Amino acid sequence: MGEDVIYSAGADEHGSKIYEKALEANQKPEEYIEKIVPVIKDSHALIGSEYTHFSRTNSKQHQEVATLLWKQMGEDIYKSKYSGWYCVGCEEFKTETEVKENNETCPDHNQAYQKIEEENYFFKLSKYQKQLEDLIESNEFEVVPGNRRKEILNVIKGGLVDLSISRPKKKLPWGIAVPGDSTQVMYVWFEALINYISLLGYPDGDEFKRFWPTNLQIVGKDNLRFHAAIYPAMLLSAKLPLLKRLFVHGHLTSGGKKMSKTIGNIVTTEQIVEKYGSDAFRYYFLRHVPSYDDGDFTWERFDAVYHGELANELGNGVQRVASMINRYQQGVIGTFENSGHDTSLYHEAVNSQQFDKALDWVWELVKSLNVYLEEQKPWQLAKEADQSHLQEVLASCVGDIMQIAELLTPFLPNTAATIQKIFKDGYVHNYSGVLFPRIEK
Ligand SMILES: [Zn+2]
Repeated sequence: MGEDVIYSAGADEHGSKIYEKALEANQKPEEYIEKIVPVIKDSHALIGSEYTHFSRTNSKQHQEVATLLWKQMGEDIYKSKYSGWYCVGCEEFKTETEVKENNETCPDHNQAYQKIEEENYFFKLSKYQKQLEDLIESNEFEVVPGNRRKEILNVIKGGLVDLSISRPKKKLPWGIAVPGDSTQVMYVWFEALINYISLLGYPDGDEFKRFWPTNLQIVGKDNLRFHAAIYPAMLLSAKLPLLKRLFVHGHLTSGGKKMSKTIGNIVTTEQIVEKYGSDAFRYYFLRHVPSYDDGDFTWERFDAVYHGELANELGNGVQRVASMINRYQQGVIGTFENSGHDTSLYHEAVNSQQFDKALDWVWELVKSLNVYLEEQKPWQLAKEADQSHLQEVLASCVGDIMQIAELLTPFLPNTAATIQKIFKDGYVHNYSGVLFPRIEK
C-alpha cells in the first residue's frame, strides 16, 4: 500500500529451555544461540518473508532497554516468595488448577511440571486488571479476532494475579541480570516482550519516536496471555502508549492431529517448498488456513489446491491469453489498461488480517477471467477474422490479469512478478517456463 513500515521478526534467546538445550549439546548458551538464529532466518527466507528488523534479545541494545524498563516499572515490582509450578517447554508458571487438570504433566510438551519454591521479583499485574479490561472493551487496544478478544477478557475478568518476573541465578544463570540484584535474572518472557520497543531504539531513537505505538502485532494463540495482558500491563506501568492491535492466529494440525514425532505426521516447510515452491506454500497457508481460526494440512489437499487452483485456474488462464495473443496477433496486445475492479473488499479483508478472504476475492477475478474466455471464445473470433473485436477481448483479459497480478503481489510475489513480465509494455514476452507446472505425487 506504499506505506513506510517496520516489520520485525526475531528470536528470544534466554530462558531455561535454551539453557537446557545448550547443556545437552555440550555448548555454552552463547554458542548455541548462534546456531539457532540462522535457522530462524532461513525459515523466513525459504518462504520469501522479508523483514526490516531482526530482534535478538541477547543483544547489548536489548539488554540495556530491558534494564531501563525494569527501573521505570520499579514502583510495580517487589520481592516475594514464589511457590508453584513451572513448565520449561512453555517457559510459563502454571496454576494449581491447571496442573491438577493435566495430571502434573504439560499436554503441550509431554513433560512433568516442575515444582518451584524460590525468592523472586513480582510484577503487580493485578493492579492493571480494570484498566486492561476497559482498554480492550473499548477497543482502544484491539484484540482480533473476536473469539480471542472474548477469551482474554474472560481471563482478565477472572482475576489477574501478580506475576513472577525473575529467577534465581543459581538455578538459571542464562538471562539478563536484574538491576541492583546480581543473584537474579529476569524471567525470559518478561524481557522478551520488551524487544518490541528495544528494537526501535527506545527511549530516544528516531524509529521509536516515529513508529511507536505499533499498528499491528501478530502472535499465535498460545501467546495470547503474554501479549494481550502481561505486555500491555508492562507498557502501562512504564507509562508508554499501547500497541493498537494484536492479531492472534490459530494453530496447524497435520491430517487433523497435532504434529508429533510419535504419530509421525510432522511436515516441514522445507519439504513443501522443495516440492511445490514458496508461492504455492504461501497460497495454501494464507487461503486455505482460515486467518481467524485453526487449519489443517495434508499432502492430498495441498496437491489438489496446487493443481486445481494454481495450475488450472490461474496458470492456465494466464497462459491461454498469452498464447492466443502470440498466435493471433503476433504477440501484440495493443493498448490496454489494468482493469479497475473495485478493490474495497480486498483492502477491507487485508486491513482486518483476513488474508483468506482477500484471496477469495482475488480468486473471483481469476474465475471470471476463465468464464469470460469461455463466453467470448476468442478462437471463434479469430476464425471469423473479427480482428478488432478479438483484440478488444484479449486486451480486456490482459487488463484483468494485470490487476490480478497487482493484488497477488503481497501473497504470491514471484508469480505476480512473472505475470507482469509476460505482459510488459503492450507485448507478450517470451516466457519459457510454465506457471505452476504439473507435479507428480
Ligand atoms: Zn509446556
